[in-house]
Amino acid sequence: MGFKFYAPASLFLLLLSLPAFAYGWGVDGHAIICQIAQDRLSDPAAAAVEDLLPNYAKNNLSRLCSWADRVKFRYRWSSPLHYIDTPDGLCTYDYDRDCKDEDGVKGRCVSGGITNYTNQLLDYGNSSSESQYNLTEALLFLAHLMGDVHQPLHVGFTTDRGGNTINVRWYRRKSVLHHVWDDNIIETAEERFYNDNVEEFTEAIKQNITGEWSDQVAKWEKCSDNKVACPDVYASESIEAACDWAYKDVKNNTQLEDDYFLSRLPVVNLRLAECGVRLAATLNRIFG
Ligand SMILES: [Zn+2]
Repeated sequence: MGFKFYAPASLFLLLLSLPAFAYGWGVDGHAIICQIAQDRLSDPAAAAVEDLLPNYAKNNLSRLCSWADRVKFRYRWSSPLHYIDTPDGLCTYDYDRDCKDEDGVKGRCVSGGITNYTNQLLDYGNSSSESQYNLTEALLFLAHLMGDVHQPLHVGFTTDRGGNTINVRWYRRKSVLHHVWDDNIIETAEERFYNDNVEEFTEAIKQNITGEWSDQVAKWEKCSDNKVACPDVYASESIEAACDWAYKDVKNNTQLEDDYFLSRLPVVNLRLAECGVRLAATLNRIFG
């Protein structure tokens, strides 16, 4: 698959061509995750990430954390790699049952994508021959897809397309439930509590990681059976959170306000924190 980084002009055109609804945490959600991860990288992982990132984004994985969303229409094959559809109403995820695209091709879901790009990146530093893969592309996909698998509605029900077909009002504005979890909760939190500033929000989550949640971090980082990546665990957590929090008490045309926002924001905070910690842990295992 040919690959190059876009010049600013074509990047601008790509941004203009974004669809009406997005498919991942919004830009801020992904940037928060990648910033948390960047700051937790081991020395070898930080060196590898710096080596693989293009010059204009050196030392800052968070700048390119939404790259995979921007190339979705150029790389049409990649679009099923951002989510998982699970059976309506079941609230469970099963790799063999659920990780496939609309044509039924197995492994073409966000969990399969994470495993695939993790395996590609294990080629890094393999001196015997140059990798057959584009490892810059693999890094950017992995960093992004780890974010997506932690967004509860990226592992949602098939018929409503992870909440994309559920119309809601976010306070006064029209939205869809999926977009509430990608963007609206994060944006409203930034407006209300963090001076409209993504860095301040990121800092607050980082303080929770080293404070309130510090005793859970080792558990988040762990990946059983000596595996390098554990996306199926995260996908199962996501569909559970989707049922317990995202879908709960929401019907078509429900107006969502403070009750919903204030009770769901802690879930969003936790998922962003877990994801940042796990992305770093995964990169540390890959490049360790
Ligand atoms: Zn995505």
